[in-house]
Parts: sequence; C-alpha cells; structure tokens
Amino acid sequence: MRSRLAPRSEHVRLAELVRDARSVVALTGAGVSVPSGIPDFRSPGTGLWQQVDPMEVAHIDAFHSDPARFWGFYGTRFATLSSKLPNGAHQALAELEQRGLLDAVITQNVDMLHRKAGTRELVEVHGSIASCSCPACGRAVTPDQVRERLRAEPDGVPRCDRCAGPLKPDVVLFGELLPEDALRRAQELCERAGLLLCIGSSLEVYPVAGLPALTLAGGGVVAILTQGPTPIDELASVRLDGDVVDELQGLLGALDDA
Ligand code: ZN
Repeated sequence: MRSRLAPRSEHVRLAELVRDARSVVALTGAGVSVPSGIPDFRSPGTGLWQQVDPMEVAHIDAFHSDPARFWGFYGTRFATLSSKLPNGAHQALAELEQRGLLDAVITQNVDMLHRKAGTRELVEVHGSIASCSCPACGRAVTPDQVRERLRAEPDGVPRCDRCAGPLKPDVVLFGELLPEDALRRAQELCERAGLLLCIGSSLEVYPVAGLPALTLAGGGVVAILTQGPTPIDELASVRLDGDVVDELQGLLGALDDA
C-alpha cells in the first residue's frame, strides 16, 4: 500500500480541474526523475555532470568531432540511466491514464521511466535511450547491440554494421533540433488540452517552454507542480511546489476522496 498525504485544498482544486477538463495532458521535465536518482544537470554539484560540461560533451559537434570522447561519456550515462526505476510520480501519471483521466504525457526526459511505469500515450520530445541509429545511413540498433559493440570496439565507439559510421543515441543532443513529428504531436495535444499539468520542469528551454501558452491560448488552464520558480507561475491556476511524488500522490488522494 502506498501512503498518501491528506489532501490539501490545492490538491482538491486540482482534482476538480482534472475531472472537469475536456482533455488533460501532462508535460514532464527532469524534476520528475530526480526521485529515481537521476540528477537534474541544472542543479550544481550533482553526479555525472559535476565532472563535465554537458553543453560541451553532449553536443552534436562533440559527437561528430570526437566520437570516442562522446561515447566515453555517453556509454556511462547510458548504463546509468538504463538501471533506473520509475518512482511514485511516474506511477501516479500511469494510474491517471488508466483511470481515463489523462490523455497523454509529453516528456523532456530520455530515461524511459514513463514507459517503464506503464504510460501508453507518450511523446518523448527529446527522444529516448531506447535505441541508437546511424546518422549516415539511418540504420537503427537496439541498446543490447550497442552495448555489445561498445565492448567489442577498441576505441569504444559503437559502429554501424552497414556503413561503419559511429552510432548515435536517438536522443536530442545540444545543438540539435527536436524531432518534428514529436514536437507537432506535443503542440496538438497542448492546443486541445483543457488542463496542462506541468510537472518537474523549469519551463525555461524552448520550444517546450512555449507549450503552456498553446493551452492558455486554446482556452485551457495550466497547473504547475515544480520545485523552484518558472516563468509562467503567475498564469497557473494551481501552483504546487513540494516534492513531485507527494504532490501527485496528493492529487490521487483528492480524486479518491471526491
Ligand atoms: Zn550506417
């Protein structure tokens, strides 16, 4: 059994919005994976990002100019992320979808934790670690095959078996554009949403930061469940800034009590 907090008035208000909205969509960022042990690289002094500048090492230019260095870093990140498990926030969103109260999750995270929690309608706008592909010829490769090739190649760069080009994880690196299809789908969902739940995202990085404005322009409302300020706090109908797991479990509790 999961322990649930007694619903606070904001949770009750949010539960009403969830029940009344024609469509509810969640937009999640790094904060939703922090309780799973995946640090947000924007928080200083945490984990892997302490030793390297992510903007430099996880940049598309670094991949092209020095794939061995890129994979030296990314191979570790790959292994770390693959071992993580979903937390109560991911589970709460999967449960909302199962109850028919949530239409989709749009995530900036590449860690696959929404998938692992069971979310079905998922838009991964920054891609995911679920696969790698060859930028030169387009061949897709599974993570298991990548791990094998990582071990087998003397320089630690997994290569394409068709054209021998270095494989790239199917995640959006710094300096790369977001995949067009995923972004278009995210925009459509946000335009039609009666309620957009922004969870664990600082809403600072475009184009994702522009999604709440689409919901508001379409006559919907926005709720923000994020620790720390966002640029649109004043436009939010509900603003919760506690731990994301507690806040979402609080919402489930308020829905149960109604
Ligand atoms: Zn290739």
